[in-house]
Amino acid sequence: HCLPRRQGFAMNTLSTRGQAPVVTLSQAIAAGLAPDGGLYMPDRWPTFSVKDFAGTRSLPDVALRLLQPFFADEVIAPALPAICNAALAIDPPLARFGAPNDYLLELFHGPTAAFKDYAAGFLAGCLSALPQGDKPLTIVVATSGDTGAAVAAAFHNRPGFRVAILYPDGRVSPRQAHQLGCFGDNVRAFKVDGSFDDCQALAKTLLTDAAFRAQLPLGSANSISLGRLLRQAAYYAHAALSHQRATGNVLNFVIPTGNLGNALACLLAKRMGLPIGQLVLASNANTVLPDFFAGGDYHPKPSVATLANAMDVGAPSNFERLQYLYPDTETLRHTLRAEAVSDAQIRAAIVRTRDERGHVVCPHTACAADVLDRLRARGEPGDWAIVATAHPAKFPEVVEPLVQHTIAAPPALAAMFARPSGAERLANDAAA
Ligand SMILES: *Cc1c(COP(=O)(O)O)cnc(C)c1O
Repeated sequence: HCLPRRQGFAMNTLSTRGQAPVVTLSQAIAAGLAPDGGLYMPDRWPTFSVKDFAGTRSLPDVALRLLQPFFADEVIAPALPAICNAALAIDPPLARFGAPNDYLLELFHGPTAAFKDYAAGFLAGCLSALPQGDKPLTIVVATSGDTGAAVAAAFHNRPGFRVAILYPDGRVSPRQAHQLGCFGDNVRAFKVDGSFDDCQALAKTLLTDAAFRAQLPLGSANSISLGRLLRQAAYYAHAALSHQRATGNVLNFVIPTGNLGNALACLLAKRMGLPIGQLVLASNANTVLPDFFAGGDYHPKPSVATLANAMDVGAPSNFERLQYLYPDTETLRHTLRAEAVSDAQIRAAIVRTRDERGHVVCPHTACAADVLDRLRARGEPGDWAIVATAHPAKFPEVVEPLVQHTIAAPPALAAMFARPSGAERLANDAAA
């Protein structure tokens, strides 16, 4: 990297494209996307051993221990303990999953019943701890369903912030649409005439328009945000440490994957020395990652609509970070595996998982359940957790006919469904 590094700071943050000035982690979190269109990455990674986490039990404890080195000397540092305690502080349960050595990491116990609540709460805490300008910061968030609600919940009525949600009209479930439109106050929901990739491209256009940003301060909360990634690494650290304490074993993960944020966070936790074994990505019928890991070129494509709609991504934005970490394609192909799951396989997995494992799972989690079944059928040994990314009650139109009973929504979700909801139409055009 040709750009000069700052002196005297613990950590610098660089763009994956190498053409943007070096910034602090706080600046990277505030900016979201780097000005050269790249994604921010720390210039080095702390490494830990299990002993470094001695005395930590809860998720906030583990998160603080893991994230402190990143935030040393940052303006956010003094607020970090409070942010870790306030950001969704529920320890994610590692439930038994119907067979010996199989587990379900339940990440859906937050206010919008999807894993994105963890990262959104943390990001909101970080941005609130930064010096505020005199204009409110507008968080622009493109969503395939769950991010928008989690970000809205985290920033709703937070002083100094507004939220603009962009979602693909007709491509999110009715309940997701209701959730996105039910906040009001400082949150506006826009239904865009286009796909999720179009929404993401719109957000990227706005966030890289320096002139526009000078008039209207913008922030990002998409899975391109480094703040989200770091926070997500913490729940993998927590799960892996708890599991190792309980069993002495490393934990392997199957992760439902769309934009690759959640899976990348797990990989980062592993690289930092946490007791994590193999990682397998479960994709839906958007097969860009399975095709790549099977030896093909990396070919982003338009997304196709599936039952696991929060994973309908044809151009996973965090792939750029993976390539930055593993510039050698063969090394990257040895680091992860990826498998594709069709809608028919999702449906079958929901029924089979209920019958054979006694768990009702959402369509995204079902992708991982199907992949775990394939691994076990091939004789894969070890302790495996599939990541439950959302509560099944978010997708009743898919899940209820398959399991043939209604699924009660958790109380926070039920309260949202009881509120009125509405979204504004928006053309697929950054000028609009
Ligand atoms: C966002 C989301 C995913 C995909 O996560 P990425 O970080 O984009 O890979 C999977 N499942 C659910 C329920 C989601 O909301």
